[in-house]
Amino acid sequence: MTARLNLAAIRDKVRSGEPLSLEDGVTLYQHPNLLEVGALANEVRERLHGDRTFFNRNLHINATNVCEASCRFCSFARLAPGDPGAYTMSLDEAWGKLRARVDAGDPITEIHIVNGLHPGLPFDYYTDLLQGLKRIQPTIHLKAFTAVEIFYFARKFEMSIDTVLQKLGAAGLDSLPGGGAEIFAPRVRKKICDDKCTADEWLDVHRVAHRIGLRTNCTMLYGHIESAEERIDHMLRLRALQDETGGFQTFIPLAFHPDGNALMKLPGPTGVEDLRTYAIARLLLHNIPHIKAYWIMLGVKTAQTALWFGADDLDGTVQEEKIYHMAGAETPQAMRPAEIVRIIVNAGRAPVERDTLYNVLSEGAALTSDKPFRRKVRRAEPQVASAPAATGEPEQSSVSPTRHRSLEIVS
Ligand code: SF4
Repeated sequence: MTARLNLAAIRDKVRSGEPLSLEDGVTLYQHPNLLEVGALANEVRERLHGDRTFFNRNLHINATNVCEASCRFCSFARLAPGDPGAYTMSLDEAWGKLRARVDAGDPITEIHIVNGLHPGLPFDYYTDLLQGLKRIQPTIHLKAFTAVEIFYFARKFEMSIDTVLQKLGAAGLDSLPGGGAEIFAPRVRKKICDDKCTADEWLDVHRVAHRIGLRTNCTMLYGHIESAEERIDHMLRLRALQDETGGFQTFIPLAFHPDGNALMKLPGPTGVEDLRTYAIARLLLHNIPHIKAYWIMLGVKTAQTALWFGADDLDGTVQEEKIYHMAGAETPQAMRPAEIVRIIVNAGRAPVERDTLYNVLSEGAALTSDKPFRRKVRRAEPQVASAPAATGEPEQSSVSPTRHRSLEIVS
């Protein structure tokens, strides 16, 4: 049977709510007409969300890029303190990022925190980081630490995953980003990231997080050495965990960026591959509510187009993104809310400002009038205790910079 004929069968399944299989997913990758695949994904997107397209106001903090893992796709990390470009923020420096936004009257609702696996920082560094941020703005949502980091903390500080999450939760952690999943297939992991947690370990961190009531996101790094079957297998494993727990909010396909890492000879995905992957994700992951087009790495124009290929979320204002820009992303490091709204409206969609948990904060005329929109922000007096655990200076080390690596994938 041709891929075209199979699409009719897949369409029937999608319309009747029957989950798609691995073979269906591969057929969608092989189907010659991207627009037909996209139209089917758009049907699902509009059934779930209509024209609504979500974004938030957020800030990224990458407190350290020192990482003892050596993922071959990563351009962000430095192996050791003292390597060129290695940095670790003092707590005051990290807290200052939020303080600056509060002082500017910028009503951000979320901080996204992702770091390298620093061998020298104590667990208190992370709990103090969260507590200090909450002291500055008690209402801020802290979406922090990938499953890779949580697993690393558990090993290094000899605690269970549950205990790590409980302690971080007590310090202010509100949810987990979805990074570090890469591709679950062992063949690929062995070649691109064999010294960090396995697929099962990554999934188990999210399982535990969901069990204790934390919502999380999930990702897939695509466009390097993986096959279409391995992408579909990855999505199906996420779908199975979602059937079990229901704790994933958003799936974010992350396009591989080839600059400055050990896989730089690879070309990276094309625009058609990006849009097809978004559409297939929407069709395969019927039980995950949102598909996010992360504009930082997808590029603003492709992210905008993806709003017609299954995506219903553009992430947020971001500010100070380091990870993808060190891998060659040419997007801006931040976008103003008015610009995000303009992009969404220009795509023929309806912008909705959300918080991290998808509670609606603003939509309709409040967002789409010609006047610049601002929400009132309740300022909290910064009452930051002084407890910097790291210097913020470039770190010194006798280890020579032999590796130039990687990127902890975000969101
Ligand atoms: S992706 Fe980069 S930062 Fe994350 S574990 Fe791998 S090397 Fe470290």
